Amino acid sequence: MSDCLFCRIRDGQVPATMVHQDEHCIAFRDIHPQAPTHILVVPRKHIATLNDATEEDALLLGHVLLTAKKIARDEGHGDPGWRAIANVNRDAGQTVFHLHVHVLGGRRLGPLG
Ligand code: 5GP
Ligand code: ZN
Repeated sequence: MSDCLFCRIRDGQVPATMVHQDEHCIAFRDIHPQAPTHILVVPRKHIATLNDATEEDALLLGHVLLTAKKIARDEGHGDPGWRAIANVNRDAGQTVFHLHVHVLGGRRLGPLG
């Protein structure tokens, strides 16, 4: 059994509120939402951080971002605006080491950093 939380969610071993699933990625609601909409878009492939992505992952990463865009639109945030964030390692506060993009929306978001 994988010790990666997001691999376990992908495999149905840990429950999550799924909002999207396709051949290449899944998306589910964050358990501790930081905004009215807080969804994590996660490639099915286990890549620990963006540091570990390679040219081979270019199409996959594009797909993850376009999926984030569709989810933000479907949640009603396309026009008012929303944010995509990928935390990488310690200084960014990454806590789950399976690459993911946060989709945040539904309120005015403060400055980054
Ligand atoms: P990171 O800090 O690595 O960028 O983001 C990890 C995110 O995963 C955090 O926002 C955290 O709230 C979320 N998270 C941690 N454990 C779980 C879980 O078991 N289920 C869900 N849905 N989200 C989780
Ligand atoms: Zn994983």
